[in-house]
Amino acid sequence: MSLVQRMRLYMKGMMFKYMPLMISCVEFEAFVLDYLEDRLPANQRRIFELHLKICPECREYLAAYRRSVEVGKVVFQEPSAPVPADVPEDLVEAILQARRG
Ligand SMILES: [Zn+2]
Repeated sequence: MSLVQRMRLYMKGMMFKYMPLMISCVEFEAFVLDYLEDRLPANQRRIFELHLKICPECREYLAAYRRSVEVGKVVFQEPSAPVPADVPEDLVEAILQARRG
């Protein structure tokens, strides 16, 4: 294990030891959507952002999550293929799948 990895593990250990309210990585993942949609209460948001600062794995997770949300938006905003609101979701999914393939 490299020194950097050992430092990270140490930081994480300290974080969980001295901050009883700190969320785990699993909890972090559960909060991601609420965080991105700005639905977290201020105190939870602070804890979430602190975890983000200390945990590179979760930073990567959040970045990947953001990218996939962006890709989703681009697909649905494509002007050549407007999707009316009353189209069933499984049909939209089928169209998108066909387009991908
Ligand atoms: Zn984490």
